[in-house]
Amino acid sequence: MQACIKTANGKVEMMDLPVPEPGEGEIVIKMSMATVCGTDMHFLDEFINEMVNGIYPGVLRPEGLPMGHEAVGTVHSVGPGVTRFQPGDRVISSCLVGCGKCHECMTVDFSVCSGGGRVMFGCQAEYYTAPFAELNTAKVPDGVSDEAAVLATDIISTGFGAIERAGAGFGDSVAIFAQGPLGLCATAGARARGCGLIIAVDAVPERLEMSKKLGANIVINAKEKDAVSEILNMTGGDGVDVAVEAVGTQPTFEACTRVLRRGGTVSSIGVYGLTPQVSMPTIVRSFLHRKIVTTLCPSGRDRMEHLLALLQNGSVDLTPLFTHRLKLADMPKAYDLFRAKTEGVLKIAVTP
Ligand SMILES: [Zn+2]
Ligand SMILES: [Zn+2]
Repeated sequence: MQACIKTANGKVEMMDLPVPEPGEGEIVIKMSMATVCGTDMHFLDEFINEMVNGIYPGVLRPEGLPMGHEAVGTVHSVGPGVTRFQPGDRVISSCLVGCGKCHECMTVDFSVCSGGGRVMFGCQAEYYTAPFAELNTAKVPDGVSDEAAVLATDIISTGFGAIERAGAGFGDSVAIFAQGPLGLCATAGARARGCGLIIAVDAVPERLEMSKKLGANIVINAKEKDAVSEILNMTGGDGVDVAVEAVGTQPTFEACTRVLRRGGTVSSIGVYGLTPQVSMPTIVRSFLHRKIVTTLCPSGRDRMEHLLALLQNGSVDLTPLFTHRLKLADMPKAYDLFRAKTEGVLKIAVTP
């Protein structure tokens, strides 16, 4: 089978590898659509393979790091102990898989599993393995397209999670810093949760256009205007109830703390990569009773099933995020495009 492998920092290659065999509790899935994510770029450009293997033992193969954690497909083979799935079932797996048994899985979320859970790897291939399948994999209803389903594996869950974890709801004001695919999902999530004023900030005009389509009331081009003073002005100097950090940089994190009203919540979902620390100002009013929540991707079968129900029956459609379509053989090109952020790229649908 063809698989996209990271062979050196910044470099992926397509390789011909054997189709994986499912182990205990695992299923092997025949990929029908995969995509590239900002987190893939951190793994590709920032973390050397040995570092990734140190964090997630066993994921590194002799030929390199199998890339990709967002995909949809049909069950190809089922390992011992798996009774929930049959070959042919159309499924998605959370991009973060949990063991379902550890303290964190049982009390917090599968995404912070301490019992052997990890990021999915190897989804950008004709076949990929889903560990702890019964706990992290969900059947996709017929009415949900591959495009919609693949987004539920990570960015819809993470983006919507930013709004949920901040407790934002009816009528709340929300500012979202950065409108890449993840930030755009947070914008759509704020709209779906019934938030009032939704302000989206980015420096790319096409992304701000998409923000409006997905539910932002006001967009601010950070290249043209100072987003912090704009947001304070439009809220009468009070600030917003919730500020979402959706890219993972010090300036955007700090901006979130500055636009917050007293007692408000910073909701951080950006991946800070190799950034060792972020800091915040203490001499702004929003420091008072401020709450900070950080979220990875809320994960697990139940989470996937809830999101799929929303995509099937709710009025949530994130498929406009797909701006490009490429074949699996063109994965190296997909990474170059995603890294360059040219051609208005948001999400790339990759098919075998
Ligand atoms: Zn992702
Ligand atoms: Zn666990």
